[in-house]
Amino acid sequence: MCLLGIDLGGTTIKAGLVDRQGQLLARGQVATGAAEGARAVLGRIIALAGEVAQRQGLARREIEAAGIGVPGWVDVARGLVRLAPNLFWRDFPLQAELAAELGRPVVVDNDAHVAALGEMWQGAGQGYRSLLMVTIGTGIGSGLILDGRVWRGVAGYGAEMGHVKMVRGGLPCHCGGRGCLETLASATAMVRMFREGLAAGRPSSLQDQPGLGAREILAAAARDDSLAREVVDCAASYLGQALANAVLLVGPEAIIIGGGPAGAGEVLLAPIRSYLAAYLGPWQLKPLPVLAARLGNDAGLIGAARLALHEQQNREEPLLGASSLPANHKNVSARGGGYVPEPRKHKRR
Ligand SMILES: [Zn+2]
Repeated sequence: MCLLGIDLGGTTIKAGLVDRQGQLLARGQVATGAAEGARAVLGRIIALAGEVAQRQGLARREIEAAGIGVPGWVDVARGLVRLAPNLFWRDFPLQAELAAELGRPVVVDNDAHVAALGEMWQGAGQGYRSLLMVTIGTGIGSGLILDGRVWRGVAGYGAEMGHVKMVRGGLPCHCGGRGCLETLASATAMVRMFREGLAAGRPSSLQDQPGLGAREILAAAARDDSLAREVVDCAASYLGQALANAVLLVGPEAIIIGGGPAGAGEVLLAPIRSYLAAYLGPWQLKPLPVLAARLGNDAGLIGAARLALHEQQNREEPLLGASSLPANHKNVSARGGGYVPEPRKHKRR
């Protein structure tokens, strides 16, 4: 028997068949086409599910259960997508619709929550029971797993780190608020800051060009481009501050950074670790592991499959694994105390 994991994104739908041990057996993807409406998107999800099952020689009905991650606010208990701006959905009963079409049990959750679950099951979070995963992309998503359970908050919008407020009266965010973390540290924010630097006459080895993204800025930072380094350092300082606040609130065992920019590795992770340590100051006995996500684009569908498996098992049981903290922690000195603490020097490439 297989589980179907679906990662519904604003531009792409990904689906995969996953066995009960978490091995990805087959995968496929298709453009979301959100502008054509929820019915059309639902049809594409069903067709993709059939295609992926067929690739594995299975009929759709042989799928044990399905899980789906959605970019937005999800009422998990009712299987309702309350609000998904990228899909133009409001109060869409995705669980009921999908279960009727597939003829299988379906569970729906927020995409960042299921990505955290995927990383905990098969990726960088293996062996931990409490972790915070932050996904940096166009916006910033986050998923929190506490003691083996996805923490969703009472109404389903718990652990929305992208919208914690960092700056009073800051830049407007598409959520309607101002000064949200994602206006300061997302890939979009890095590009904006870099362009502002260029417009102010700052020299850089990297010129503005159509399609300029965080990937190019991070690569320039790794080459020691001073404007790019400054932009990355600024984003990392806000991420470090927000993460420190989250750590003080919930005390996770590890933090996982996902999304495209995390693929750049230490050029982003090292300053995040430095600022996190500086902001936490004495409030850590040993450095908290800050790890790059390992599953890339598959985290969402693997996590969605894990959620589906959990629905088939005992819902009251925690989802995952035994606790184990890595033993190779180094001590760091407490620094900071100012509004923006100086980071420890991180290794230059
Ligand atoms: Zn916001």
